[in-house]
Amino acid sequence: MRIDLDRVRAETPGCRNVVHLNNAGASLPPQPVLDTVIGHLRLEAEIGGYEAAADRRAAIEGVYDTIARLIGARRKEIAVAENATRAWDMAFYALPLEPGDRILTATAEYASNVIAFLQVARWRGVSVEVVPDDSSGQLSVDALRAMLDERVKLIAVNHVPTHNGLVNPAAEIGKVAREAGVTYLLDACQSVGQMPVDVAEIGCDLLSATGRKFLRGPRGTGFLFVSEHLLERLEPPFLDLHSANWTAPDEFTIRPDARRFESWESSPATKLGLGAAAEYALALGLEAIGERVVALAERLRERLDALPGVTVHDRGARRCGIVAFSVAGREAGEVVEALAARRVNVSRATAEAARFDFEARNLPALVRASVHYYNTEAELEALCRVVERGLDGLR
Ligand SMILES: *Cc1c(COP(=O)(O)O)cnc(C)c1O
Repeated sequence: MRIDLDRVRAETPGCRNVVHLNNAGASLPPQPVLDTVIGHLRLEAEIGGYEAAADRRAAIEGVYDTIARLIGARRKEIAVAENATRAWDMAFYALPLEPGDRILTATAEYASNVIAFLQVARWRGVSVEVVPDDSSGQLSVDALRAMLDERVKLIAVNHVPTHNGLVNPAAEIGKVAREAGVTYLLDACQSVGQMPVDVAEIGCDLLSATGRKFLRGPRGTGFLFVSEHLLERLEPPFLDLHSANWTAPDEFTIRPDARRFESWESSPATKLGLGAAAEYALALGLEAIGERVVALAERLRERLDALPGVTVHDRGARRCGIVAFSVAGREAGEVVEALAARRVNVSRATAEAARFDFEARNLPALVRASVHYYNTEAELEALCRVVERGLDGLR
């Protein structure tokens, strides 16, 4: 199945206004997502918020089925959250880590996750250790295997980092984790929506993702997958009357499904929008999406590489839709601004987002261009032209 570019662009209102190469920040949502969210907000205004939720109950429940289908999970293994970080946190802070336990993570790990590791290291005396990269720049599976012992209680890595095109070998890591019986938490924030992601194939116990990035959902959405075998063994760090049931004056029971990690109040409009985004991606096909994203990103890397003074910093044996580069003599922020002035959206990635990797490679702040299937070669050219000529004019 090939992607019908004219159709997907016609269904993406933002394509008329901007060259959007900030899909790792937040993608332009397609029309069905927009219609779903606005439609529900309108219904809330017309008949009442609780009444609108009751009215759309079947559709809201259907969101869990769609997300489960998207990642090859069961509906009871899915919790919807307000973002990926909170989804990840709910799982991470539920893990029964004890003094002396070891957490293994990747060089490219995301700041918010590392901050949580460090907090728990401080509270409970666990150690946080970075698995070295292999020569391609991805997490070294051999090094990971060599670091394992009975004190390793968690392998937590990101599938695709926030700041470069690397795709970590998630399934190989899963194999090692399974063999060792170590809990495996995968941050799939940047991979879900741009490539097929299947929890059974990967072999992770826990997975978090966001709605607004490559999945093209509304902002303020995310989800968590908790494998069935862990579900009733993980006690969420926070509970309320949705995640638990107050059964007697001094008793409560926690829900058996993954929604034990949710809270009562949430936005049905954006939850429905998240479901619409997942349906849209499934209808196009994640294989087809992934192929086009990789092809566009490779094309962009080639073009950028050929420009004098431009260095592409992506790593890994397998690369995806994120293209990180720097321009000699120009701070990343200047490049981002020059592009923004011509309505080309990209963003800036700095050490604050992924300090292990930035320090290890002594990286400057980077320009992050992230392509999606609805982008065109002409749009990539627009970016390259600004970098090539536009910047000259600003010197
Ligand atoms: C964006 C991102 C997150 C955080 O997602 P939110 O929805 O903003 O909480 C986590 N990990 C990675 C790798 C990211 O790029």
